[in-house]
Amino acid sequence: MPYQSINPNDGKVLESFEHISNAQLESALAAAESCFQSWKHMSYAERAVILNRAAALMHAHVDDFARLETLEMGKRIDEARGEVKFSADILAYYAEHAEAFLAPTTLHPAHGEAHMENSPLGVLFCVEPWNFPYYQLARVAGPQLMAGNVLVVKHAGCVPQCAIAFEKLLIDAGAPVGAYTNLVISYEQSDRVIDDPRVKGVALTGSLDAGRSVAARAGQNLKKSTMELGGSDAFIVLEDADIDQVIPWAVWGRMYNCGQTCCAAKRFIVLEAVADAFLAKFTAALEALQPGDPMLETTTHGPLSTEAALLQLLAQVDAAVDAGATLVLGGKRIDRPGWFMQPTLLTDIQPDNPAFRDEFFGPVASFYRVKDEDEAIALANDSDFGLGGSVWTRDQARGKRVASRVDTGMMFVNNISWADADLPFGGIKHSGYGRELGNMGIQEFVNKKLVRTGHFPAPV
Ligand code: NAP
Repeated sequence: MPYQSINPNDGKVLESFEHISNAQLESALAAAESCFQSWKHMSYAERAVILNRAAALMHAHVDDFARLETLEMGKRIDEARGEVKFSADILAYYAEHAEAFLAPTTLHPAHGEAHMENSPLGVLFCVEPWNFPYYQLARVAGPQLMAGNVLVVKHAGCVPQCAIAFEKLLIDAGAPVGAYTNLVISYEQSDRVIDDPRVKGVALTGSLDAGRSVAARAGQNLKKSTMELGGSDAFIVLEDADIDQVIPWAVWGRMYNCGQTCCAAKRFIVLEAVADAFLAKFTAALEALQPGDPMLETTTHGPLSTEAALLQLLAQVDAAVDAGATLVLGGKRIDRPGWFMQPTLLTDIQPDNPAFRDEFFGPVASFYRVKDEDEAIALANDSDFGLGGSVWTRDQARGKRVASRVDTGMMFVNNISWADADLPFGGIKHSGYGRELGNMGIQEFVNKKLVRTGHFPAPV
């Protein structure tokens, strides 16, 4: 079955879905295009009513949305509730701010008058991952629907029920047919969507491979795209950091969502002076995590999303050890049903080890000991990815200086509060291009049109 909902806690198949036919895909694209013709003329206030209603419905049904997510991709229930509330807040945020973000701006040319105005592009195709089944959808739906675009969305194959729930949410909130359409489609059908002249832009969040393929296709069609891809974020601990305050963040930063977060802390780069203390406390804290049913509040370590993800991660750890890394903790599948992996910690990773460059998308931390700040920054920058990262120090000004020298799209000083509706999110290098959220996120798929007025004599 192409789209399968499987409970990661016990491996039981919950529901399966077939790809839609090409005729159904054609109807969906036609409905989206037809909807755009009226949606684009609606006022911001009219669109905001629908988005606000969707936000309110999400808040009113947090538990239902969260339980479905926990069931389908294994996120611990409390984390799932947090994601649902955040997704609702994103919808409400754009309902409130879109009009101001996209208001015309006056320019001041030397001659005449000019302004910039923003208008929607049309049907957008969004390809989204399973690790935040609602938040990823809200991140595109909130800004793009408010901007006047309409969406056709391919969600990940392992979260079809969450995908349907989000589409239903918007319909229940009053979105017209075609404003937001969930597509259960193959990669070949995805290519057809990108090629379709009615589709004007493509936004993908996912792996490097998916990004390369979808961005190339969009490029062939000269269509604007945004790519939110993987990461291998550095967590830099300077010698003046308060280790007892840092450790809970290190655990959370690596283990939230069972380590399946693009901007999770993945490489722990610690200055020599505090390296032993950090390593001992970090190891103990990871060891204390309690695997269990993600539906239970008492569980502190949930399953991975799929068996394939678990097997890939186990193979990556084996390859790292074969190439000379030391396994400080974990590294094995947990002996129980479902897709559980032990919290894992690797050290002694040399640059020729595949673990030095690859992304570990699960509960695997890499530890590096460095002599000073410059070496920490050089190591942080020696990565193909450039999504986020963090610096830990008692000296805020020093933290900001270090943050400025790390080549990523986002840096956090003494926190890793990755995302808020009002702040832009995104990376550079192999972590992709473009931004989502904040004011920048809504500017990605609008026509920024210059209008210049004035009576000038024609050039001779
Ligand atoms: P993935 O395999 O790339 O899947 C992501 C989405 O892309 C899914 O909907 C998938 O569909 C689809 N897809 C993959 N190849 C495709 C192709 N050739 N044509 C059309 N669609 C295609 O990613 P993943 O492994 O599930 O997700 C984890 C990755 O996403 C990690 O690398 C993570 O860092 C990254 N991520 C980045 C961000 C960010 O904002 N930067 C946020 C979250 C995750 P199927 O499921 O049907 O294969």
